[in-house]
Amino acid sequence: AKAGAPAARRRSVLPEGLRLTHAERVIDASTGITKRELAEYAARAASRLLPQLRGRPVSLVRAPAGIGGELFFQKHDDTGKMAGMRQLDPALDPGHAPLMEIASLTALLGAVQMNVIELHTWNATVRSIERPDRMTFDLDPGEGLAWPRMLEAAHLVKALLDELGLQSLLKTSGGKGLHVVVPFKPSLGWVAVKALSQRIVQHLAATLPDRFVAKSGPRNRVGKIFVDYLRNGRGATTVAAWSPRARPGIGVSVPVHWEELDGLTSGAHWTLRNIDERLAMPDPWAQGAALRRQTLRTAMRVLDFVP
Ligand code: ATP
Ligand code: MN
Ligand code: MN
Repeated sequence: AKAGAPAARRRSVLPEGLRLTHAERVIDASTGITKRELAEYAARAASRLLPQLRGRPVSLVRAPAGIGGELFFQKHDDTGKMAGMRQLDPALDPGHAPLMEIASLTALLGAVQMNVIELHTWNATVRSIERPDRMTFDLDPGEGLAWPRMLEAAHLVKALLDELGLQSLLKTSGGKGLHVVVPFKPSLGWVAVKALSQRIVQHLAATLPDRFVAKSGPRNRVGKIFVDYLRNGRGATTVAAWSPRARPGIGVSVPVHWEELDGLTSGAHWTLRNIDERLAMPDPWAQGAALRRQTLRTAMRVLDFVP
């Protein structure tokens, strides 16, 4: 563990009174990133992260033994031991402990204290839990796909969505691929939204079959891009923008302007090591707030979709 001035200086970004145990424990052997650094990132990024988390059920990826150890995907608050963690109405997921919401810095850092690395959210807010307010398209590069093809594919997804009257937001996954998010005014229920997202992906794969596949399975996607719509069902989650990833290098899922797409080098373009340059810039999704008012009407008409 490193002691001395730099660590002491950095400690000050963490709120007083935060109990961070095993702070100097290395969570990623490939970089030497410690639990303290993760907590410091969470504190620095809180003004970006919390708006992504507030109001939505959250699932957690915990790595009690670091990312080289076993990872736990946690959907329910079965211990009630995380500081500040909000427990949601048990009726949302009957037969389980309550779903969780992170709505404060205390809860965010409380999660880090409990060895949480990744934060994954639903596509609906608690206020309107049966009517999603966004669709997420998960772009996964198949085996052997060259990265520039991935960039072309993302442009094509955007073009198709534009044609359907849907403005979209882009982010790196912090892992291998990219995520395209389409916010909209809640109207349809989960089943309809998932079916519509499937239609969009099927349309894409039918129009550009040499580039895209709609069917999962590694065999189907060799040299192609799998666009996963299964993130759009009730209870499904996707890593939140600004969340770190429990993978070597600790990539971060980062919002990107569409104009910046061609400059991306991978889904892990930003990591805990270079994320500050990004935090220093205005949030690329800041203007995306207006997209919350867009509707699915044109998309439904063009695709002849009847919910
Ligand atoms: P990449 O760009 O590398 O594909 P990604 O975030 O798109 O990164 P994954 O990390 O494979 O892809 O995402 C896994 C998906 O499954 C997410 O929707 C996540 O919320 C969910 N998930 C992850 N682990 C579990 C689990 N153990 N149980 C249920 N769902 C999980
Ligand atoms: Mn993916
Ligand atoms: Mn996927």
